[in-house]
Amino acid sequence: MAVCVAADLHVHSALSPCAGDDMRPPAVLLTAERRGVGIIGVVDHNSAGNAGAFLEAARAFAVRVFVGLEVESAEGVHILALFDNAEAAADMDAAVAAHLPGWRNQPDVLGNQILVDAFGNEIGCDDRLLLTATSLTVEQVAAMTRERGGMPIPAHIDRELAGLLPVLGFVPPGVSVEVLEVSRHMSVREARARWPELEELPLIVSSDAHCLDDIGTAVTWVSAPLAAAEIPALEWGRCLAANLLGAGG
Ligand SMILES: [Zn+2]
Ligand SMILES: [Zn+2]
Repeated sequence: MAVCVAADLHVHSALSPCAGDDMRPPAVLLTAERRGVGIIGVVDHNSAGNAGAFLEAARAFAVRVFVGLEVESAEGVHILALFDNAEAAADMDAAVAAHLPGWRNQPDVLGNQILVDAFGNEIGCDDRLLLTATSLTVEQVAAMTRERGGMPIPAHIDRELAGLLPVLGFVPPGVSVEVLEVSRHMSVREARARWPELEELPLIVSSDAHCLDDIGTAVTWVSAPLAAAEIPALEWGRCLAANLLGAGG
Protein backbone atom coordinates (compact mmCIF):
# COMPACT_ATOMS: atom_id res chain seq x y z
CA MET A 1 0.00 0.00 0.00
CA ALA A 2 1.18 3.48 -0.80
CA VAL A 3 2.52 5.46 2.14
CA CYS A 4 1.24 8.74 0.73
CA VAL A 5 -1.54 9.73 -1.62
CA ALA A 6 -1.50 12.71 -3.99
CA ALA A 7 -4.28 15.22 -3.40
CA ASP A 8 -5.26 17.98 -5.81
CA LEU A 9 -7.93 19.84 -3.88
CA HIS A 10 -8.65 22.56 -6.43
CA VAL A 11 -10.13 21.37 -9.73
CA HIS A 12 -12.88 23.18 -11.64
CA SER A 13 -15.73 21.59 -13.59
CA ALA A 14 -17.55 22.67 -16.75
CA LEU A 15 -19.79 24.81 -14.55
CA SER A 16 -17.02 27.37 -14.19
CA PRO A 17 -17.22 29.71 -17.20
CA CYS A 18 -13.43 29.91 -17.36
CA ALA A 19 -13.00 26.10 -17.34
CA GLY A 20 -13.16 23.76 -20.31
CA ASP A 21 -16.53 22.37 -21.33
CA ASP A 22 -14.96 18.89 -21.15
CA MET A 23 -14.36 19.13 -17.38
CA ARG A 24 -17.08 16.55 -16.71
CA PRO A 25 -17.06 13.76 -14.10
CA PRO A 26 -15.85 10.74 -16.11
CA ALA A 27 -13.08 12.69 -17.90
CA VAL A 28 -11.88 14.51 -14.78
CA LEU A 29 -11.90 11.36 -12.63
CA LEU A 30 -10.25 9.21 -15.28
CA THR A 31 -7.52 11.81 -15.74
CA ALA A 32 -6.92 12.01 -11.98
CA GLU A 33 -6.83 8.22 -11.68
CA ARG A 34 -4.41 7.82 -14.59
CA ARG A 35 -2.10 10.46 -13.12
CA GLY A 36 -2.07 8.80 -9.72
CA VAL A 37 -4.06 11.54 -7.99
CA GLY A 38 -6.03 9.76 -5.27
CA ILE A 39 -8.00 12.72 -3.94
CA ILE A 40 -9.49 15.71 -5.75
CA GLY A 41 -11.53 18.69 -4.66
CA VAL A 42 -14.06 19.79 -7.26
CA VAL A 43 -15.14 23.41 -6.99
CA ASP A 44 -16.80 25.99 -9.18
CA HIS A 45 -16.98 29.74 -8.86
CA ASN A 46 -19.70 30.54 -6.31
CA SER A 47 -21.56 27.30 -7.10
CA ALA A 48 -21.59 23.61 -6.23
CA GLY A 49 -24.06 22.72 -8.95
CA ASN A 50 -22.10 19.70 -10.20
CA ALA A 51 -21.20 18.35 -6.74
CA GLY A 52 -23.69 15.49 -6.70
CA ALA A 53 -22.68 14.33 -10.18
CA PHE A 54 -19.00 14.13 -9.22
CA LEU A 55 -19.68 12.28 -5.96
CA GLU A 56 -21.89 9.78 -7.76
CA ALA A 57 -19.37 9.25 -10.55
CA ALA A 58 -16.49 8.85 -8.09
CA ARG A 59 -17.88 5.48 -6.97
CA ALA A 60 -16.60 4.01 -10.24
CA PHE A 61 -13.06 5.37 -9.82
CA ALA A 62 -10.19 4.95 -7.39
CA VAL A 63 -10.37 8.64 -6.56
CA ARG A 64 -11.78 10.23 -3.41
CA VAL A 65 -13.74 13.40 -4.09
CA PHE A 66 -14.46 16.44 -1.98
CA VAL A 67 -16.94 18.86 -3.48
CA GLY A 68 -17.87 22.47 -3.00
CA LEU A 69 -17.41 26.02 -4.18
CA GLU A 70 -14.70 28.57 -4.79
CA VAL A 71 -16.38 31.57 -3.21
CA GLU A 72 -15.29 35.08 -4.11
CA SER A 73 -15.54 37.33 -1.08
CA ALA A 74 -16.62 40.96 -1.04
CA GLU A 75 -12.92 41.89 -0.83
CA GLY A 76 -12.26 39.93 -4.02
CA VAL A 77 -10.51 37.00 -2.32
CA HIS A 78 -11.10 33.39 -3.41
CA ILE A 79 -11.82 30.79 -0.72
CA LEU A 80 -12.46 27.08 -1.31
CA ALA A 81 -15.36 25.59 0.66
CA LEU A 82 -14.96 21.81 0.50
CA PHE A 83 -17.43 19.20 1.77
CA ASP A 84 -17.62 15.42 1.92
CA ASN A 85 -21.30 15.23 0.91
CA ALA A 86 -23.61 16.78 -1.66
CA GLU A 87 -26.20 17.96 0.88
CA ALA A 88 -23.81 20.21 2.78
CA ALA A 89 -22.38 21.51 -0.50
CA ALA A 90 -25.90 22.29 -1.76
CA ASP A 91 -26.74 24.05 1.51
CA MET A 92 -23.63 26.22 1.18
CA ASP A 93 -24.48 26.83 -2.48
CA ALA A 94 -27.92 28.15 -1.49
CA ALA A 95 -26.46 30.36 1.24
CA VAL A 96 -23.90 31.84 -1.16
CA ALA A 97 -26.54 32.35 -3.88
CA ALA A 98 -28.34 34.82 -1.62
CA HIS A 99 -25.19 36.97 -1.68
CA LEU A 100 -24.65 37.07 -5.44
CA PRO A 101 -25.49 40.33 -7.25
CA GLY A 102 -28.25 38.75 -9.35
CA TRP A 103 -26.76 39.50 -12.77
CA ARG A 104 -26.80 37.14 -15.72
CA ASN A 105 -23.84 35.34 -17.25
CA GLN A 106 -22.71 36.29 -20.75
CA PRO A 107 -21.61 32.93 -22.19
CA ASP A 108 -20.21 34.49 -25.38
CA VAL A 109 -17.84 36.66 -23.38
CA LEU A 110 -17.21 34.74 -20.16
CA GLY A 111 -17.85 31.12 -21.16
CA ASN A 112 -20.43 28.40 -20.61
CA GLN A 113 -21.71 27.29 -17.21
CA ILE A 114 -22.70 23.68 -17.84
CA LEU A 115 -24.55 21.46 -15.37
CA VAL A 116 -23.91 17.74 -15.88
CA ASP A 117 -24.94 14.33 -14.59
CA ALA A 118 -22.59 11.62 -13.34
CA PHE A 119 -22.07 10.37 -16.90
CA GLY A 120 -21.05 13.80 -18.12
CA ASN A 121 -24.27 14.51 -20.01
CA GLU A 122 -25.34 18.14 -20.09
CA ILE A 123 -28.52 18.58 -18.06
CA GLY A 124 -28.72 22.35 -18.13
CA CYS A 125 -26.93 25.67 -17.85
CA ASP A 126 -26.64 28.06 -14.94
CA ASP A 127 -27.73 31.49 -16.19
CA ARG A 128 -26.44 33.44 -13.21
CA LEU A 129 -23.25 35.49 -13.32
CA LEU A 130 -21.02 33.27 -11.17
CA LEU A 131 -17.65 34.85 -11.96
CA THR A 132 -18.11 37.78 -9.61
CA ALA A 133 -17.75 38.83 -5.98
CA THR A 134 -20.37 37.96 -3.38
CA SER A 135 -21.25 40.33 -0.54
CA LEU A 136 -19.69 37.94 2.00
CA THR A 137 -16.46 38.77 3.83
CA VAL A 138 -13.59 36.28 4.00
CA GLU A 139 -14.44 35.69 7.67
CA GLN A 140 -18.09 34.98 6.82
CA VAL A 141 -17.24 32.52 4.05
CA ALA A 142 -14.92 30.59 6.37
CA ALA A 143 -17.49 30.57 9.19
CA MET A 144 -20.35 29.48 6.91
CA THR A 145 -18.23 26.63 5.55
CA ARG A 146 -17.33 25.41 9.05
CA GLU A 147 -20.95 25.63 10.24
CA ARG A 148 -21.82 23.11 7.55
CA GLY A 149 -18.97 20.75 8.42
CA GLY A 150 -16.77 21.83 5.53
CA MET A 151 -13.13 22.90 5.31
CA PRO A 152 -12.49 26.47 4.22
CA ILE A 153 -9.19 26.96 2.38
CA PRO A 154 -8.06 30.39 1.16
CA ALA A 155 -7.13 29.68 -2.48
CA HIS A 156 -3.88 30.59 -4.28
CA ILE A 157 -2.96 32.98 -1.46
CA ASP A 158 0.13 34.16 -3.36
CA ARG A 159 -1.71 35.15 -6.56
CA GLU A 160 -2.08 38.84 -7.44
CA LEU A 161 -5.58 38.20 -8.73
CA ALA A 162 -7.93 37.13 -5.91
CA GLY A 163 -5.17 35.80 -3.63
CA LEU A 164 -5.50 36.56 0.08
CA LEU A 165 -2.02 38.00 0.65
CA PRO A 166 -1.71 40.35 -2.37
CA VAL A 167 -5.33 41.53 -1.97
CA LEU A 168 -5.50 42.00 1.82
CA GLY A 169 -1.79 42.06 2.64
CA PHE A 170 -2.14 39.71 5.61
CA VAL A 171 -4.07 36.74 7.00
CA PRO A 172 -6.96 38.37 8.91
CA PRO A 173 -6.89 37.26 12.56
CA GLY A 174 -10.65 36.53 12.51
CA VAL A 175 -10.34 33.98 9.72
CA SER A 176 -10.50 30.44 11.06
CA VAL A 177 -8.92 27.96 8.63
CA GLU A 178 -6.86 24.81 9.02
CA VAL A 179 -4.77 25.08 5.85
CA LEU A 180 -4.05 27.65 3.14
CA GLU A 181 -3.36 26.99 -0.51
CA VAL A 182 -0.37 28.21 -2.48
CA SER A 183 -0.74 28.34 -6.27
CA ARG A 184 1.16 25.97 -8.49
CA HIS A 185 3.30 28.91 -9.59
CA MET A 186 5.05 29.14 -6.24
CA SER A 187 6.49 26.47 -3.98
CA VAL A 188 5.60 26.27 -0.30
CA ARG A 189 9.21 27.13 0.51
CA GLU A 190 9.10 30.25 -1.68
CA ALA A 191 5.81 31.35 -0.13
CA ARG A 192 7.22 31.02 3.40
CA ALA A 193 10.32 33.01 2.40
CA ARG A 194 8.23 35.81 0.94
CA TRP A 195 5.61 35.96 3.72
CA PRO A 196 7.34 35.05 7.02
CA GLU A 197 3.97 35.05 8.81
CA LEU A 198 3.20 31.79 6.97
CA GLU A 199 6.02 30.02 8.77
CA GLU A 200 3.79 28.28 11.33
CA LEU A 201 0.83 27.71 9.01
CA PRO A 202 0.09 24.47 7.14
CA LEU A 203 0.21 25.09 3.40
CA ILE A 204 -1.06 22.97 0.54
CA VAL A 205 -0.48 23.29 -3.19
CA SER A 206 -3.12 22.52 -5.82
CA SER A 207 -3.38 22.82 -9.58
CA ASP A 208 -6.47 25.08 -9.82
CA ALA A 209 -7.13 22.98 -12.92
CA HIS A 210 -9.35 24.58 -15.54
CA CYS A 211 -8.60 21.95 -18.20
CA LEU A 212 -7.90 18.21 -18.08
CA ASP A 213 -4.20 18.73 -18.73
CA ASP A 214 -3.85 20.78 -15.53
CA ILE A 215 -5.14 18.05 -13.21
CA GLY A 216 -2.42 16.86 -10.85
CA THR A 217 0.18 19.40 -12.02
CA ALA A 218 0.46 20.46 -8.37
CA VAL A 219 -0.44 18.14 -5.51
CA THR A 220 -0.18 17.84 -1.76
CA TRP A 221 0.96 14.50 -0.34
CA VAL A 222 -1.38 13.09 2.28
CA SER A 223 -0.67 10.07 4.50
CA ALA A 224 -2.49 6.93 3.35
CA PRO A 225 -4.51 6.55 6.61
CA LEU A 226 -5.75 10.15 6.33
CA ALA A 227 -6.49 9.72 2.63
CA ALA A 228 -8.85 6.86 3.53
CA ALA A 229 -10.27 8.34 6.76
CA GLU A 230 -14.07 8.47 6.64
CA ILE A 231 -14.47 11.62 8.69
CA PRO A 232 -16.29 14.91 8.01
CA ALA A 233 -14.43 17.36 5.78
CA LEU A 234 -13.79 19.86 8.57
CA GLU A 235 -12.24 17.16 10.74
CA TRP A 236 -10.30 15.91 7.73
CA GLY A 237 -8.90 19.41 7.24
CA ARG A 238 -7.75 19.50 10.88
CA CYS A 239 -5.98 16.17 10.43
CA LEU A 240 -4.46 17.39 7.16
CA ALA A 241 -3.03 20.41 8.97
CA ALA A 242 -1.50 18.16 11.65
CA ASN A 243 -0.20 15.86 8.90
CA LEU A 244 1.48 18.75 7.07
CA LEU A 245 3.06 20.29 10.14
CA GLY A 246 4.23 16.87 11.30
CA ALA A 247 5.87 16.39 7.93
CA GLY A 248 7.48 19.81 8.09
CA GLY A 249 5.27 21.00 5.22
ZN1 LIG B 1 -9.46 31.40 -7.80
ZN1 LIG C 1 -10.03 28.11 -8.97
